[in-house]
Amino acid sequence: MKIAFLGLGNMGFPMARNLANAGYDVTGYDVVESATQAIAEHNVTPADTARAAVEGANVVITMFPAGKHVLEAYQNELLAAAQPDTLFIDSSTIAVDDARRAAELAREAGHRALDAPVSGGTKGADQGTLTFMVGGDQADFEQAKPLFEVMGRKIVHTGESGTGQAAKIVNNMALAINTIGAAEAFSLGENLGLSHQTLYDVMSTSAAQSWAVSTNCPVPGPVPEAPSSNDYRPGFATALMAKDLNLAKSAIEATGTPADFGLAAFQAYTEFNTEDNAGKDFSAIIATKKKG
Ligand code: NAD
Repeated sequence: MKIAFLGLGNMGFPMARNLANAGYDVTGYDVVESATQAIAEHNVTPADTARAAVEGANVVITMFPAGKHVLEAYQNELLAAAQPDTLFIDSSTIAVDDARRAAELAREAGHRALDAPVSGGTKGADQGTLTFMVGGDQADFEQAKPLFEVMGRKIVHTGESGTGQAAKIVNNMALAINTIGAAEAFSLGENLGLSHQTLYDVMSTSAAQSWAVSTNCPVPGPVPEAPSSNDYRPGFATALMAKDLNLAKSAIEATGTPADFGLAAFQAYTEFNTEDNAGKDFSAIIATKKKG
């Protein structure tokens, strides 16, 4: 198996490195030349062009910022440059419709396609502990599974093309709502005279328990390893949450789903995603719940 890995950013770089370190034959390419050169130190063969990376590969993995990058790269050169029946795996977080379109384009060009977005952040990418949500044919999923198992720990086949992206944005929408809920609870509790630790002890063991309370507690103190206890260093950055909620908003509108809280979360994170806050963990949104 020969793998082309395109998009060697915060996520793609360690994912490509982990594949190479597991013994796979990986060629890497990023439009940023320094990223392509740096991956050469990790057993990945650097390619001068996207075309050169893809030629001769039978699996092409992309890890780009957004849907437009995926669709443009597929249409402009990748699909035409690849040998017939190449398996295209896109792990970027993009809109469900873009993922379906990308898969359709790949199939029309005589290839196979999976959408395989991830959660787990840069730490998960680095340590090979990502969760993969994978949309596409069962046989293609089975072929790619050993690769996902190198880069991740939990691998879920979610159904047909686009369902991987659907799982990703639905999960993140619920996470955003949970986090705003936890933030409002801690602020209201504080205004009613409850200490953060007392409220944490109650909420983390009662019906309002959630990852947003127990693991990513939005107030500093109760969970020492949470971003809140470390100056809100991410974790999962506000800019990325705002991006994913924008995708959720499009999906809510396209499907006509009554999801007022999802739309409110989109609104709240869009407003919170200023230059100052974009790089902070998304639990920092509790700052907007303080009085005055
Ligand atoms: P990033 O911006 O660090 O990396 C993207 C890379 O793609 C960049 O290096 C860019 O130069 C490269 N690129 C863009 N177009 C290209 C092309 N046509 N050919 C080759 N390279 C190209 O972004 P990231 O943090 O690595 O995230 C990548 C994707 O993963 C995004 O969709 C993001 O939403 C998703 N994601 C990120 C995280 C995270 O914590 N960073 C977590 C889960 C999912």
